[in-house]
Amino acid sequence: MEEVDESFGPGSQAALRDANQQRVARVLQSSGELTQAEIARSTGLAPATVSNIIRDMTNDGVVVVSELRGRRRVVRLAPSVGLVVGIDFGHRHVTVAVSDMAHEIRAEHRAELGVETSAAGGIARAASLLQTALNDLDADMSAVVGIGMGLPAPIDGHSGEVGAPSILPGWVGMDAAAMMSERFGMRVAVDNDANLGVLAEHMWGAGVGVDNMAYLKLSDGVGAGLVLNGKLFRGRDGTAGEIGHTTMDEFGAVCRCGNRGCLETIVASGAVLELLEPRRGRGLTIPDVVQMARDGDKACERILTDTGRHVGVAVANLCNIFNPELILVGGELAIAGELLMAPMREVVRRCGIPSATANLQILPAALGARAPVLGAVALALQAAQIPLNS
Ligand SMILES: [Zn+2]
Repeated sequence: MEEVDESFGPGSQAALRDANQQRVARVLQSSGELTQAEIARSTGLAPATVSNIIRDMTNDGVVVVSELRGRRRVVRLAPSVGLVVGIDFGHRHVTVAVSDMAHEIRAEHRAELGVETSAAGGIARAASLLQTALNDLDADMSAVVGIGMGLPAPIDGHSGEVGAPSILPGWVGMDAAAMMSERFGMRVAVDNDANLGVLAEHMWGAGVGVDNMAYLKLSDGVGAGLVLNGKLFRGRDGTAGEIGHTTMDEFGAVCRCGNRGCLETIVASGAVLELLEPRRGRGLTIPDVVQMARDGDKACERILTDTGRHVGVAVANLCNIFNPELILVGGELAIAGELLMAPMREVVRRCGIPSATANLQILPAALGARAPVLGAVALALQAAQIPLNS
């Protein structure tokens, strides 16, 4: 970005100051806290200009300057600027988190939901959790400047409709963003849980500072979120990263997407448990299987190894195309740790082009079950409109 010529009249001066303040506010929105030198680098503004802008914004109460990082002064958006809200609908739950504009999570609440809960029922539950969270902070909706929301489903980037396949049948065909926006009285940004996972890990987790990475969600559903060149990559219709529907066996089991032998039919939590059912009985959970494998159960260990290998084939394909430097493994199956990731790495190395995988790291995601709700907060931070005083 280039600095605008400041040799205009007084009206232009005010417009320029507003534009520069907006630029500074936007980089703080996405980074949380920065030194003045970092702000100058990110905005392309001259250090002296940044200094003046920060002084004005401090006087207006929009930013606070603190001494948090050793002796370097860091700048953050002031808590009074507003709050952002992340809402995550999972397979069986809804979680609401409230953050200030400096990326600090101030309140978080979770409730269980039935799988068949209607979209309207889920939204009503989310609204009541949000009210509880705002009450915790002695705040109300007037303080909220952005809302992000996650659904474990593909979301059409243009119509906002929840697409099939979805593991939330009550939401398919609904315009989730429009329903949420109407309920909360402001534009609500919506994305799927794999995209939110990568946003969260990029902002708070194991992917901070990594510009080309993927987050794998391995649970009841299987998907990937992609950050490319530092930005979430959604594709034309928001469907990028549907790695769970990679064809692994053209004549395999029919998938909920209508295709056959998709990765998800082989490695989703339910598929893993089904494979063990004839020998280890019904009612097992993924944590049970992981524990049994660690206790020396050969069948459980074998199934987790094979799951890692199958995922590895799809990840190798992903690496050949996008050449990421980091793959983070999240979702329910991630608790298997090295039981799953060691065979995954081996297959990625075997099947991927050496130059596409040579500098690749495959690591556990850091944020666990909180990833989607934190990602929804990240989405809200990106979308929030900050009211500036000038
Ligand atoms: Zn499929």
